[in-house]
Amino acid sequence: MIKIEVDMDLCQHYGQCVFEAPNLFKLNEDDKLEYHAEADDSEIENVEAAVDVCPMQAIRIVE
Ligand code: SF4
Repeated sequence: MIKIEVDMDLCQHYGQCVFEAPNLFKLNEDDKLEYHAEADDSEIENVEAAVDVCPMQAIRIVE
């Protein structure tokens, strides 16, 4: 199990993470980010890609 945290004070809702891990991140109807705080291990590459692509460095994988 992967645990994910997004610092919502940093997140600017750009949505790049949504493209990298669409099973876990989405923009809601108000264009605000919503995400799953827990993900299956099979998502690790997508989560790491989302971490890398986030321009605000807002996404963290919790050890
Ligand atoms: S890429 Fe980063 S700043 Fe953009 S919505 Fe995702 S967490 Fe927020």
